[in-house]
Amino acid sequence: MLYLGALILCTVLSLSLLKKIFSASLIKKENNLAALESEYERLSEEKSGLIKNNRSLDEKVAQTKALYNFTKDICKTLDEEKIFGIFKARIGDYLQGSGDYQLLNKDTDLSIYKGCTIFPLIIQADVIGYLMAGEIEDKDKERFQILAQQFLIGFKRAVLFKKMQELSITDSLTLLFSRRHFLERFNEELRRSKKFKYSFSFLMVDIDKFKDFNDRYGHLVGDAILREVSKTLKDTLRQIDFVGRYGGEELSVILVETDKEQARIAAERLRQAVEARNIKVYDEELKVTVSIGISAFPDDSSSASTLIELADKALYIAKQEGRNRVKYLA
Ligand code: GH3
Ligand code: MG
Ligand code: MG
Repeated sequence: MLYLGALILCTVLSLSLLKKIFSASLIKKENNLAALESEYERLSEEKSGLIKNNRSLDEKVAQTKALYNFTKDICKTLDEEKIFGIFKARIGDYLQGSGDYQLLNKDTDLSIYKGCTIFPLIIQADVIGYLMAGEIEDKDKERFQILAQQFLIGFKRAVLFKKMQELSITDSLTLLFSRRHFLERFNEELRRSKKFKYSFSFLMVDIDKFKDFNDRYGHLVGDAILREVSKTLKDTLRQIDFVGRYGGEELSVILVETDKEQARIAAERLRQAVEARNIKVYDEELKVTVSIGISAFPDDSSSASTLIELADKALYIAKQEGRNRVKYLA
């Protein structure tokens, strides 16, 4: 009996000990599980944070790439109007707005543009104009400023290139005198001729139907024609004469110490030289002609501007009479 009692007691004690051991291990496992769950939650949060970061980095890369392409397109040309055209055509890809964008000159009264966003175009500390945007939502204003900055980069290039060309002595395409330099030489020649009582003549030379060549063969061929005609003029004239690029496809010549009659002969020689030339450009062999207007000092006038005006009028008549001819006002 005693033996049985001891056995039961032992069993009960063992069972309670075993229970204690099991429950301690259970608590430990539960604790571990809780720790694992919280670690899992932390890692999940970290993962979604990383995904978010990755997405925002992707967005930033896409934005930077788009901005780079925008700037690249804007810098493709050195023509101010074309740059603005590209800006207007592309800005809609980056922000929503009324689509009303204008390029304003520096003297514009800005008070009439109340409610619009105005971006001043500053080049070398001077405000040379404004870029105006009609209605833009507040959230897009910062982006507009960034895009306007890119516009300014392209615009600045064009303005400075034009300035550089105006200041240079030679025209980069034709290698003739630039208009500014030609006019300086013109005035110098006028002073010299007045002082020493020399005569001199002025020719305005214009390529006939040049626009048609551009339209048919493209501007690169047009440029090559312009270079060839300029070269023909230089080769045909004397070393002492001056040849300039007066405007787009208008070339100007000063025939030093040459009266009107001599000028007519020289101009006719020029006209024939151009007409006779086979101009080879890329795969094309082309023929062009020029019309020429003449004025002479002192026969026609002693003023530079009147001499230019008279040659221009004579050129106009040469065009009206059928082109490929030399004309002077009797
Ligand atoms: P016209 O016989 O009456 O002179 O006709 P035109 O076509 O020559 O005259 P118009 O004034 O209508 O056109 C002149 C053209 O010259 C238009 C312009 O695009 C082109 N031009 C001006 N400068 C350049 C240039 O540097 N390169 C090229 N390729 N074309 C030019
Ligand atoms: Mg022409
Ligand atoms: Mg012309």
